[in-house]
Amino acid sequence: MAFDNILIENIIHVIISYKSRVLVVGAGLAGSTIARVLAENGIEVVVMDKRKHIAGNIFDFVNDNNERIHRYGPHLLHCNESSEGLVFLSRFTKWINYEHRVRAQLENGTTTSLPINKITIQDIYKKKFDNEKEVKSFIDSIRNKNLIPRNTDELFEASVGNKLSDIFLRPYTKKMWGVDPKELAVSIGSRLPVRTNSDSRYFNDNFQALPKYGYTKMIENMLKHINIKVLLDSKYSKGMEIEYDHAFLCTPIDEFYDYCYGELPYRSILFEERKSKGNDLSAPVVNFTDNSIYTRKTQWNLFPNSGKRISNFNTLTYEIPCSMRENPGEYYYPVHTKESRKKYEKYRKLSLQKEKITFCGRTGLFRYIDMIPAVMIHLKIAKDFLKIKKI
Ligand SMILES: Cc1cc2nc3c(=O)[nH]c(=O)nc-3n(C[C@H](O)[C@H](O)[C@H](O)COP(=O)(O)OP(=O)(O)OC[C@H]3O[C@@H](n4cnc5c(N)ncnc54)[C@H](O)[C@@H]3O)c2cc1C
Repeated sequence: MAFDNILIENIIHVIISYKSRVLVVGAGLAGSTIARVLAENGIEVVVMDKRKHIAGNIFDFVNDNNERIHRYGPHLLHCNESSEGLVFLSRFTKWINYEHRVRAQLENGTTTSLPINKITIQDIYKKKFDNEKEVKSFIDSIRNKNLIPRNTDELFEASVGNKLSDIFLRPYTKKMWGVDPKELAVSIGSRLPVRTNSDSRYFNDNFQALPKYGYTKMIENMLKHINIKVLLDSKYSKGMEIEYDHAFLCTPIDEFYDYCYGELPYRSILFEERKSKGNDLSAPVVNFTDNSIYTRKTQWNLFPNSGKRISNFNTLTYEIPCSMRENPGEYYYPVHTKESRKKYEKYRKLSLQKEKITFCGRTGLFRYIDMIPAVMIHLKIAKDFLKIKKI
């Protein structure tokens, strides 16, 4: 009888003290957002990443020269100042205001403003405009107004004409996507704005900033919670989720299903670091307009959350877009075509059968997502999960 009582008491104790356990694969922004929300709601979370560092593609660090480097390309945060994503991130970092400006390097070595605006057109056509109306009517005179674009190349011609397209848009786009802009859907080219005023900012948003102590510190603060355990240098493989009540996988969805419907296409980027003793660049990021392999270069110590260099050189990073074969495992930009979207939809439908797994992040959702949208999407995923209590 006494033995039965002890057994029942033990069972009750186990039930009361049982905490749900969730696995999150990927310590990037998507995974860390989910982990934090669940941890704050009493769930034990194990976050696993195959890399040796947290923060995924927004990882930054200070090098020996006291410069803050973003290892996977420059990341600029921009959004509406009332965004829920910004409110969430502001719990984990202070911000330094920074409005991003980009220059484009021309054939003769000089640079001009990007995205195309009044200043760019004045520089290229050696003209002076007094007001926006004049700029607009000039653009109308050089663009192909009668063309109804069926692809990115035609969109360029219809919006700014061939001369500006040949300098600023066609070579860059071809390098970026590895195909002629004629092969790309109109939606790819439509991301690039054309302005009739002198606004040379890269983004329009009313909040533009960098985390004061870097993105890695921000993610470190997000993951600092008694209910979160982080395992680095740990590659997820199928089946590991069995030990957990639920798994959020920020991993390529096609890989999980052994590419049964074929591979989802991505573009990757190789980063080439150089030490430069020359003058500062005319902006932290300078785009190339030539036919070389490089799309852009970044001078890190020009960003306001970088320290001043301690030696007499600046660190620059040159970007070379490439195929996944040239940079295996480094997924950057999902290539959206009709065919790839259909393929992803098949994988998505298949994944609905797995009640205990949710695919997340850029590669789980096969979607290019900026940082703030990434936070908002994953806040919603985590909150929906808590609501329907799948566990
Ligand atoms: C070149 C580039 C520039 C960008 N610039 C900007 C910008 O200026 N502004 C902006 O707002 N956004 C920018 N972004 C977008 C930003 O990087 C994303 O919003 C953000 O990184 C999304 O994070 P994620 O968690 O989805 O993916 P990731 O950061 O890629 O995180 C996924 C993590 O999962 C891990 N992982 C994958 N598979 C496994 C496995 N099997 N086992 C264990 N771990 C695994 C990976 O190692 C990685 O750390 C840029 C993106 C790129 C590619």
